[in-house]
Amino acid sequence: MATQRFDYIAIGSGLAGLSFALQAAKHGTVCVLTKSEIHECNTNYAQGGIAAAVGESDSWELHERDTLIAGAGLCDLDAVRFLVQNGPKAIDWLRDIGTEFDVQDDNLLALGREGGHSRNRIVHHADNSGAEVERAIVEAIRNHPKITVYEQSYVTELLLHNGRCVGVAAMVSDRGLKTFYARAIMLATGGCGKLYSHTTNPAVSTGDGYGLAIRAGAVLENLEFIQFHPTTLYHPQMRSFLISEAVRGAGGTLRNHHGHRFMYEYDERLELAPRDIVARAIEAEIKRLETWCVYLDTTHIKKETLETKFPTIYEACKSVGLEIHKHWIPVVPAQHYSCGGVKTDLCGRTSIPGLYAAGEAACTGIHGGNRLASNSLLEAVVFGSAAAKAVADEPPCGKDVFKPMVPRCIPEAQAIRIRHGLQRTMTDYVAIVRTNKGLQAAKKKIKELIEDYKSQPSAPYSIYSIETLNLLLTGQKMVDMAIARKTNVGLHYNTDLIPNEESLNNEELKPSSAKKTPK
Ligand SMILES: Cc1cc2nc3c(=O)[nH]c(=O)nc-3n(C[C@H](O)[C@H](O)[C@H](O)COP(=O)(O)OP(=O)(O)OC[C@H]3O[C@@H](n4cnc5c(N)ncnc54)[C@H](O)[C@@H]3O)c2cc1C
Repeated sequence: MATQRFDYIAIGSGLAGLSFALQAAKHGTVCVLTKSEIHECNTNYAQGGIAAAVGESDSWELHERDTLIAGAGLCDLDAVRFLVQNGPKAIDWLRDIGTEFDVQDDNLLALGREGGHSRNRIVHHADNSGAEVERAIVEAIRNHPKITVYEQSYVTELLLHNGRCVGVAAMVSDRGLKTFYARAIMLATGGCGKLYSHTTNPAVSTGDGYGLAIRAGAVLENLEFIQFHPTTLYHPQMRSFLISEAVRGAGGTLRNHHGHRFMYEYDERLELAPRDIVARAIEAEIKRLETWCVYLDTTHIKKETLETKFPTIYEACKSVGLEIHKHWIPVVPAQHYSCGGVKTDLCGRTSIPGLYAAGEAACTGIHGGNRLASNSLLEAVVFGSAAAKAVADEPPCGKDVFKPMVPRCIPEAQAIRIRHGLQRTMTDYVAIVRTNKGLQAAKKKIKELIEDYKSQPSAPYSIYSIETLNLLLTGQKMVDMAIARKTNVGLHYNTDLIPNEESLNNEELKPSSAKKTPK
């Protein structure tokens, strides 16, 4: 059958899509469409864990405060409050569906610490928390009678009828192009790491959700706020492997080529300053000393502690000859997380009726100008679950109105060339430190690349080609938003602009970085 009907569709099988699917299935049938294998998503690679105010000395008020400070005055307070107040419940729900989090001797949850958090509040499973969460939720999804999962199924288009999103077109593994109709469609497609040459994200992170939403006319917001993870492994055999912030939380220190602990020069919170501050400091040190990387020093931490707390990182480094209890780890920043996305309300509703968004694809307003570490998995569960309740009120599915049409693709070799051009442009001009001239150059180059794409001859269906179009549209929107942002705030740092006076004058929201901007 070329057409199928469900009550709800989730595009994406990360924590946002699957949290939505599992809870929406309480009041209808659900179809999960995911473009690779079910586990292949950012969620599966998350190391540190999930932030939630569950510790004895913690409260949602403190979690809220830390989130607002990281967000540099641009967070939506209602969204943040909704997130942090629902944090403990989200952890309980994940445990109920079978997620095993680390516990202490007294059987209370073991809580880690990450940059920007004033308390230990990172609920985790060793250093592979995302894989554990994904394992548990995939198992629950597979056992649910009302949920159908299509793997290797790539959503090529959102279908709009009379201004409402009524379904999607998808290329389903060996079965060809199909049309799916539903009462509500959840866009949970994750981020857009593949816009950049260096990213911690897996290959599926090609900004499809942003591209689909832009093509459908939805409102997007805050795309200029891209988080770069300060510490990814700098090694030819393992590029951009993430060395979790939890390693710095456990005492890892950053050193430059001279062995100097340079964070003293940049921020009083040292290695646990928010990520943008640490990433800029590293970039500044690399430029100042004209070196390729800086180093994360864990040699003062016991071998047993490193092996037990960070087994994945320990083994990964060992596999390339680095024994991290003896050797400093060479690290560089890499693209990591998109704070902006498709604008939603507290229930995940976008500007298009019938279309919802959650997780990294969405902009709920909780991150503002910068994401507080480990708030994103929490956001995926809390807002995915809120959307699952809201969709119960959507009207029934309409009639079939579309004939499936294979989207126009271009030759793969040309798509590869164009994508590389885009990645170089974004990496050179729209990364950690920006300039007016660089942003204008990026705008011009992306326009040329889009024209180049359009002028190519038609070719057989290729995911790579459509992904590249989505990346081009996302990059274009991101650059426009970066140009429109006229103050330096959060992750947007343009050397031709001044800092955001409003956030600097507000003592409550004042990060200590405001006193000392990295050179
Ligand atoms: C290395 C790493 C470590 C991280 N560590 C942490 C951490 O410790 N704590 C934390 O809170 N956050 C962390 N993050 C961020 C966090 O993992 C992500 O923000 C979060 O997992 C996003 O979940 P999601 O469900 O929105 O998207 P994802 O988990 O990325 O899932 C997106 C899904 O959409 C599918 N998809 C995309 N496009 C299409 C399409 N066109 N058709 C069909 N399917 C499609 C993908 O295949 C995938 O299944 C980390 C990220 C990385 C990369």
